[in-house]
Amino acid sequence: MVDGNLLKMAIGFHGHKCPAMPLGLRAGLAAMKKLGVEHAANKELYCICETGFAHATMCFVDGVQVATGCTFGKSNIEKLDYEKNAITLIDVRGKKAVRVVLNPDFQKKGLGSKFVQMRSQGIEPQDIDAEIVDPMIENIMAQPEEKLFKISDVFDYGFKGKKGTFEWQQCENCGELVFAHGIRIKNGKKLCIPCSEYEK
Ligand SMILES: [Zn+2]
Ligand SMILES: [Zn+2]
Repeated sequence: MVDGNLLKMAIGFHGHKCPAMPLGLRAGLAAMKKLGVEHAANKELYCICETGFAHATMCFVDGVQVATGCTFGKSNIEKLDYEKNAITLIDVRGKKAVRVVLNPDFQKKGLGSKFVQMRSQGIEPQDIDAEIVDPMIENIMAQPEEKLFKISDVFDYGFKGKKGTFEWQQCENCGELVFAHGIRIKNGKKLCIPCSEYEK
């Protein structure tokens, strides 16, 4: 059983009730269970997410972040933009990974739902009746993992994260502080990327 507080917290973070976010929550939890790992305090886990930037069910990624602790803030998550609802969760220390993808049959049912129909007509998720969305969320939280997902076997995955820099400079034009990788030299001056007008 998934902790109800976790769902509540995830909905608060996400901003509205929808079915895709709880699916991400469950996908993250399923991957963690399979790997035998806990929520990442720092960068013990790394997540490769296959969702894109403009399609239904992208909300999935927010659930994944809440469940796993792989967040855009910690930069231990990335998006491949394959436009698929799948994640590969990596246990960085154990050098193991698992891939979890939404079960196509379950996803097809969801995509045929009234909720998705209303969303496709431009109705905002927060304007959709709780009577429509609440049972979907309850159903997702109650289903066994194997109904919701296809979960791979655990496989070897060597992964080397990047070490964060503590080195900084002050832009000689705007005076703002910049971490090392963001400094550009132009006409002998140390500048931030926007002030240098160089490409990133
Ligand atoms: Zn959502
Ligand atoms: Zn600057």
